[in-house]
Amino acid sequence: MNQVDYLRISLVDRCNFRCQYCMPEGAELDYILKQNLLTDEELLTLIQEVFIPVGFTRFRLTGGEPLLRPRVVELVRVIASLRETQDLSMTTNGFLLAPMAQSLYNAGLRRINISLDSLDPDVFDQIIGNRGRSRWQDVWNGIQAAYSVGFDPLKLNVVVIPDVNNHEVLDLAALTIDKQWHVRFIEFMPIGNTELFGDRGWIASEEIRQSIRARWGLTEAQVRGNGPADVFQIPGAKGTLGFISQMSECFCDRCNRMRLSADGWLRPCLLNETGQIDLKTALRTGVSTTELRQQVRELLAIKPEINFKFRDSGATGGYTRTMSQIGG
Ligand code: SAM
Ligand code: SF4
Repeated sequence: MNQVDYLRISLVDRCNFRCQYCMPEGAELDYILKQNLLTDEELLTLIQEVFIPVGFTRFRLTGGEPLLRPRVVELVRVIASLRETQDLSMTTNGFLLAPMAQSLYNAGLRRINISLDSLDPDVFDQIIGNRGRSRWQDVWNGIQAAYSVGFDPLKLNVVVIPDVNNHEVLDLAALTIDKQWHVRFIEFMPIGNTELFGDRGWIASEEIRQSIRARWGLTEAQVRGNGPADVFQIPGAKGTLGFISQMSECFCDRCNRMRLSADGWLRPCLLNETGQIDLKTALRTGVSTTELRQQVRELLAIKPEINFKFRDSGATGGYTRTMSQIGG
């Protein structure tokens, strides 16, 4: 059985972008009320007194947009300094990153994933739902800042959407040739915007690999924190190419993670909420951390049966929550 030691922590469900595939403009989302967000103190109590004792040692800060969380640098500092923390990383849209990259690094963050769905500012703005001043340059500046500060590995996440950005996969893959950047192509999943998914469908990783192979060739490779990605490399490139193929090559059976939402729900699986635990209410009503550890252990024991099976489901969509709400 897979050891489940990896917790994705959503720091906030809100976001300064409205990505078409995640929380499109006009979508009615029930945002978490401020008083229902886990406080810093509650979050740190859960990490130190519940998650670490039951075996979690690797943490990813995500959201929504994690850099919108007040005092995020301080949270990073505390989590990174815990003796048991073996790995701490963040997934961000990068918009606020440039001025924060150095302080996040100084606080102990070493690994970062930045979403970059297009190299074309117009396409990018269309994807993120932006109608004002272009935001592409700010994100690019964030990536450059993270690179010069020394984040390693620095990964760039690309959700590939037919007829939106699939024509850019070679240009995006080429970013890995001269710089030690790790571009990861993610298959579009039918959560968040099932209408767009219904209209466009998704592109299998193998199809993308074939076009890259035809252009440069591809060899198998490794990068720290592979997770569910299959990793390859353009021969001679400094960086790598990762493929996250939850639609075409369901990896639910080897899932090693759980998710903590910004309002304190512990979810055993991205798409199956069976057994989820409301840790915030438990803490606020005086349930002891000893009891919570027991509840989390019980959830860990049943996780293999709970794990959603994309393959078996036919992945038709209709999931009610978005990645931003669950903590993608
Ligand atoms: N706001 C941050 C960001 O965009 O990087 C972190 C949260 S976001 C929910 C985490 C990841 O989920 C991003 O890489 C995003 O591209 C991915 N994501 C969101 N909706 C998705 C979908 N429907 N299919 C595949 N990936 C999705
Ligand atoms: Fe925001 Fe990330 Fe969702 Fe885009 S993918 S809307 S940046 S949470």
